[in-house]
Amino acid sequence: MLNIVLFGPPGAGKGTQSENLIAKYKLVHLSTGDIFRANIKGGTELGNLAKSYIDKGQLVPDEVTIRLLESEVNKNPSAGGFIFDGFPRTSAQAEALDSFLDSKGQSITVMLSLEVPEEELKRRLLERGKTSGRADDADPNVIQKRIDVYNAETTPVKAYYQQQNKCSEIHGVGSIDEIFSRLSSAIDAAAVK
Ligand code: AMP
Repeated sequence: MLNIVLFGPPGAGKGTQSENLIAKYKLVHLSTGDIFRANIKGGTELGNLAKSYIDKGQLVPDEVTIRLLESEVNKNPSAGGFIFDGFPRTSAQAEALDSFLDSKGQSITVMLSLEVPEEELKRRLLERGKTSGRADDADPNVIQKRIDVYNAETTPVKAYYQQQNKCSEIHGVGSIDEIFSRLSSAIDAAAVK
């Protein structure tokens, strides 16, 4: 099993790179943001709840997010591994993921941390907002809030994986192909350990 956490701030390129990585490594892509957006579109109860946080740039509560993630993993019993994109975003989520995987005799292979300067993130998000149809990409105040929430609540997740010697920092500026090749090298190095 190859289980990858693709980590980084909003606009770091997690979604774009996940698309390429799942094709190369034959993994199941689990993006909590994508799942929330699908639920919003479908008008589900979960979608309505998630929307009230997402529109403000806040995190959806851990309890809800962890339950969702576990049920999505359980829907894919024959997966050869997962890319967790946008999860975990808090220390509590990271701990919950470890104990959940542990209960299945699995673990995280590597955490890839995409490193992108804040000004570049804001530029990318505003650009994406022109076409993504995402309200949280279109408003500079919501973008700033998401970055602030990342700095306050999500950066401790990096230290969590550093303590386990599983964090690999990846320079996240460059062409999509360049960044993909940096990510692939880090995965290949971690997979043979
Ligand atoms: P993303 O598509 O990863 O940028 O996520 C969009 C929004 O969904 C975030 O700004 C949060 O409001 C919510 N969200 C996604 N993943 C999580 C998570 N792991 N924990 C809490 N909220 C999340």
